[in-house]
Amino acid sequence: MVRGRYTNDRLDRKEGYMASYPAYETSARPDLGARAEFEIRPGVVFPDWQAIRSEVAEAALLIIFRVMGIERRWNHYRPDLDRVRTAILRGFAETARAPSVSRLATVTGMTQQDVLSTLGELKDRDLAVLDESGRRVTGAYPFTEHDTEHTVRHGARALRAMCAVDALGIGAMLGADVVVESRCRACGAPIRAETADYGKSLKSCNPKDAVVWVGDHYTGGCGATSLCTTIAFFCGDAHLRSWRESSESGASGHRLSAEEAHQVGCAVFGPMLRRIGVEA
Ligand SMILES: [Zn+2]
Repeated sequence: MVRGRYTNDRLDRKEGYMASYPAYETSARPDLGARAEFEIRPGVVFPDWQAIRSEVAEAALLIIFRVMGIERRWNHYRPDLDRVRTAILRGFAETARAPSVSRLATVTGMTQQDVLSTLGELKDRDLAVLDESGRRVTGAYPFTEHDTEHTVRHGARALRAMCAVDALGIGAMLGADVVVESRCRACGAPIRAETADYGKSLKSCNPKDAVVWVGDHYTGGCGATSLCTTIAFFCGDAHLRSWRESSESGASGHRLSAEEAHQVGCAVFGPMLRRIGVEA
């Protein structure tokens, strides 16, 4: 867990060290580390740091990467992993359900046995979530089959997202404008956000003062059951505050505006389906 000097309370009081450094001199912030990036397929770099335009969004993303162990996920990422993973994401986007192993074999041209062993590695990297049998996909960030409070409307489809940031990044990943429907984690009030510019900008958010809490709780090698459960919308700062006072999950993390959370979503998910099938 990331503890110590970097706490949200310092940001809350606007006296944190973030404010004392000029924008984007990451070398001056040893606590947060460098901006890691990985070429996930030829010409496609993850994450898209250009989507990050706010210091708090950058800090939140760096902390997420640190707690989840970003190198474990992406180091030595291979084309066969990418083939299966992108097939899962496209299957979710097209049907709102995880594709079966036989469907993945058909789409990727791999044998079912090879798909299964690749799924096992994607799970170990926390790039996919499998059921208890290990033979069925139930999620791949940003998508899940489980009920969460985050629904993303893409055309006629209702896609379920793992968390608030994942929901906000789906438009940029699909290159399409979407509507995010969620709820305040404290009071249950509906929250609705709409993207523009093929998912790359946030057109509106209702209520307009809605915020996103990005917790930094990651355990069990699985973001879906830890980190994602602490990344949620709130109708405003008052309800975020009351929830933080009553929930262990609110102990440490970052408070982002909806716009800043959208930046993080775009940085993470924007590159996920870029240039699939394009030769280097
Ligand atoms: Zn509320």
